[in-house]
Amino acid sequence: MRIETKSIHAGAKNDTDNRAVTAPIYPSTIYRHKDDSADPAGHVYTRASNPNRESLEELLTVLEQGKKAAAFASGMAASTAIFQALEPGVHVILPLDVYHGTRELLTGLMKRWNLDTSFVDMTDLDKVGSAIQHNTRLIWIETPSNPMLHITDIKKVCELASSRDITVCVDNTWSSPALQNPLDLGANLVMHSSTKYLSGHSDILSGAVVTKEENEIFENIRSIQQISGAVPSPQDCWLLQRSIKTLPYRMRGHCGNAGKIAVFLNDHPKVERVFYPGLQSHPGHLIAQSQMSDYGGMISFQIKGTGNDAMKITSSAQIITNATSLGGVESIWEQRVRSEAENTQTPANLIRLSVGLEHPDDLIEDIEVALNQV
Ligand code: PLP
Repeated sequence: MRIETKSIHAGAKNDTDNRAVTAPIYPSTIYRHKDDSADPAGHVYTRASNPNRESLEELLTVLEQGKKAAAFASGMAASTAIFQALEPGVHVILPLDVYHGTRELLTGLMKRWNLDTSFVDMTDLDKVGSAIQHNTRLIWIETPSNPMLHITDIKKVCELASSRDITVCVDNTWSSPALQNPLDLGANLVMHSSTKYLSGHSDILSGAVVTKEENEIFENIRSIQQISGAVPSPQDCWLLQRSIKTLPYRMRGHCGNAGKIAVFLNDHPKVERVFYPGLQSHPGHLIAQSQMSDYGGMISFQIKGTGNDAMKITSSAQIITNATSLGGVESIWEQRVRSEAENTQTPANLIRLSVGLEHPDDLIEDIEVALNQV
């Protein structure tokens, strides 16, 4: 089955009571005990499991070609569960320009877990290899990375990890399973902020972890999910499953529009540099071509000007909203440093654009007018 079909049918449950084609939402927090107390099957209490979360987890498992999935109340809750599933004191390797929230989680809140971290340029495999220590237990990949769109070779990093006891986790938020399946490339875990493309309409906060195998680290993640309870509501699970039905078609639109806009920006006299893996000039273009089915809907670009100019441009558009986040049907952009921590390495004149599903010519005209404000 192809992804368009899986997105619509995987995880869908038959409603035998009423024969509804669209699955119902189960808001109930509690479920009647089975009469036979020796039978542990079924739902008991919604923090542990509920029908809508179960359906969503089945769908995500199928889309990422994994064994099991655990849904969370946000991407950060999913990431936190992965780091907490590690033994305190072990070493973790992450990309230099990892999503700033992940960096802050590890260098701030998780400090008490005493994880030892190395932030490495993952486009350079030698650097990844030499960062590995005797106690490295996790390599975290983000590709394309947020916000610089660096491309990491997932297969090659997995090869470095495979002979050692190291889990490789890929934050697949920016690609979505419609464009990239890290578990097929050798990764052990995939993490999603499903708030972004999976949701697609900027109206659900949620996250997920999908595992290739049912192993100890996933058992830990499942326990953290069920015991600490950072889980999405049945309503959010239902809505997310509904949104995912159109994911492959939405991703086609995002990629098509972004490809056109990247070329337009690349030729624009007021733009200094464009970061988009679909451009042949992008240093990670060939790796992206080999591991992604298309190049995604995210573009970052530096303008010829200051941070203030970037701010002025992003507040001058008529269609593109000046807002953070990404992956929705509506185009949004921001001067990226505004949303990152003080110690960010992101250049002040960098604008991050999440290309939506409006007509690309309308978006290009909007960008042209905004660029001409400075
Ligand atoms: N990972 C990436 C790549 C992100 O872009 C984000 C959010 O922007 C997250 C993780 C965090 O996800 P959430 O905001 O759903 O907690």
